[in-house]
Amino acid sequence: MGLDPLDLAVVCCLIASVVLYTKRENILTILRGSDSLDPAIGINTNGSKDLIEIIESNKKDFLILYGSQTGTSEDYCKKFAKELHSKFKELNILCSDFENFDFDEPNTLGNLVGKIKGLVIFMSTYGEGELPDPCVNFENYLNNIIEKDEMTGLPVMIFGLGNSTYEFFNGAAITLKKKLVTEGGAKLLGEVGAGDDSIGSTEEEYVSWKETAFEIIEKEFNLTGGEDAPFEPMYEYVNYEGSEDNVFQGELNKNYLTADKKHLGPFDQSYPFLANVLESKELCDPESGRNCVHMEFDISGSNIKYETGDHLGVIPQNAKEHVSKFLSTLGLNGDEVFDLKLKDPTSTLPFPVPTNIETAVTNYLEITGPVSRQMITQLIQFIPDTEEKVKQRLVEISSSPDVFHKEVIEANFNFTDCLNYVSPTFQWGQYIPWTFLLETIPSLKPRFYSISSSNLKDSDKISVTAMVEVTDAKKLVCGVTTNLLNEINKGPENAASLPLHYNLSGPRGSYKAESYKLPVFVRKSTFRLPKNLDTPVIMIGPGTGVAPFRGFIRDRLISNKEADMMLFYGCRNVHDHLYKEECDKEYIPELKNLKVFTGYSRDPTVPKTYVQKLMLDEKDLIMEALKKGAFVYVCGDAGSMAKQVNDTLVTIISEKQDIKIQDAQEMVKLMKLNGRYHEDVW
Ligand code: FAD
Repeated sequence: MGLDPLDLAVVCCLIASVVLYTKRENILTILRGSDSLDPAIGINTNGSKDLIEIIESNKKDFLILYGSQTGTSEDYCKKFAKELHSKFKELNILCSDFENFDFDEPNTLGNLVGKIKGLVIFMSTYGEGELPDPCVNFENYLNNIIEKDEMTGLPVMIFGLGNSTYEFFNGAAITLKKKLVTEGGAKLLGEVGAGDDSIGSTEEEYVSWKETAFEIIEKEFNLTGGEDAPFEPMYEYVNYEGSEDNVFQGELNKNYLTADKKHLGPFDQSYPFLANVLESKELCDPESGRNCVHMEFDISGSNIKYETGDHLGVIPQNAKEHVSKFLSTLGLNGDEVFDLKLKDPTSTLPFPVPTNIETAVTNYLEITGPVSRQMITQLIQFIPDTEEKVKQRLVEISSSPDVFHKEVIEANFNFTDCLNYVSPTFQWGQYIPWTFLLETIPSLKPRFYSISSSNLKDSDKISVTAMVEVTDAKKLVCGVTTNLLNEINKGPENAASLPLHYNLSGPRGSYKAESYKLPVFVRKSTFRLPKNLDTPVIMIGPGTGVAPFRGFIRDRLISNKEADMMLFYGCRNVHDHLYKEECDKEYIPELKNLKVFTGYSRDPTVPKTYVQKLMLDEKDLIMEALKKGAFVYVCGDAGSMAKQVNDTLVTIISEKQDIKIQDAQEMVKLMKLNGRYHEDVW
């Protein structure tokens, strides 16, 4: 049987919306407002957004651009640019963020034909196959300005970063290929690279794509060189002897150097708001063996506006234990104050300077997390032949991805662990320059949390729901940010038993408050309740995936107490059942059309139940809601959960409507394109 008239109407509506969607105005520009780029870390273009002028005045002939949401593609892009530069000195490379340029006439990519030899793009995919927020100007160019074949003759290479648990895996890179190559006429060199974060293989995919890319570039542009060049610092490292007042102690930009300065915003990643922690509490009971922190931040007086469903970015710092292990393994003097000078005026500083080594390691470098094979390979150049044993071990573990995986990744080693594994007694600091470390170790990134408050109910505060990351399988591995939140939550009286400790007073004591402060900023998301308050919503959020749905439910307490809402929630057992009490006592009694379905996966008294099973049990209710135009929301951190929820919905639609699985898949796909099916999965 085919689609009934109701379904046909729905599909027609969906198709119309797809058309509208693809032509949508780029409202992100308005939402983001102006980005306050800190001159200390922004591109040095004297404020110009004129790409052609910058290329010409700096005599650049090779362009490398990145579109990054959280900084990962920025890291890969800069790594690529640096290596390309050291291999092929004759290329004059400009490496920058798409955000730094306007991309309207005459600053189009088409007008670069003949001015540059080639263009390489690193592009992350965000949301439902979209370009990251900072690419808003570029996206406008792709949708409205680019002309057919305007890039004919311009060689282009693309590396996409994505996550295959999402429907539109590497969607942004695919869009680029279509717009620049198929429509714009650019000449694609090599394959479009596809890094996949879901299986942690981006690094290996990058390395193999990069090796081919270098060979292609050498041939295509007739370059000489190509050998692995020895490390050459991008910055001039100088001792700093100026005033203490100018030395960064972890401040994120110049605005924070003067302690008494009032911060007015607008606040964003480069200029975060120092928010008081108003309240925090533990959401798991002690028998769960886990910690999940509910933390509320005061944003009153900051002018920060958030909407229910947005994300909060938290800027973390590394724990004292990790920092001291790093400094001692690498023989570094944490007190040494230094400054960095740019050798190339179009490059950017990696973090604010002058500063001292300990501050840089604590606040600006991602020193934990899995170590990359490329980083270990690069160390080999610094170890003299006289240290044959150590050199040999480095070669052994880094030359094959399989060996590296078995010996390093499976052991959960970070950079320092890996060095200590290769040799616990070797004087690494004698050979590995600090300049190499500060240029090669990725920058410490903000972590994002789905906001679990509602702006309608609590416009002056933002809450997050963070599961504390501590794994003790092969070795104790702790997450940076969640353990910071946990230390604040536990308070000084309970801190001794924690695995990690942080400088909670912050730079120059600026995080000290009645409780503490943390640098935070709001990132707009598309995870929004339907505008029509009567539209039913189906929310699926296991674990901390429930966070935004707490916000949605609290929203409806204010906006429409009659709304049809279904929440499918899963956790291990009653001990880590998040927000159970407030749900039972407040939300269910107040919202008479809210239905909550909970499944436990590790409760010996009941069969293992995941959210997909709960959905199948309620298929009639789900289909009924879909027919009334329900919006579906999926949120959480379970690797394959989003895909399984998608498949479950397809099964339900196919079965209840008696249509083929392929037709049901198409309907779900259309719901996603139409903004009726949202995923927020990490
Ligand atoms: P990190 O230091 O980033 O470590 C990440 C993981 O890697 C941890 O599990 C850690 O134990 C492990 N790890 C560290 N070192 C190694 C190593 N050497 N080898 C192997 N593994 C290692 N999380 C929530 O709890 N609640 C939310 O509401 C939420 N919302 C999110 C929304 C978005 C849009 C995104 C992108 C993410 C969201 N997250 C959420 C995830 C969150 O951003 C963090 O990733 C998470 O809290 C871990 O951060 P961390 O700094 O504590 O851990």
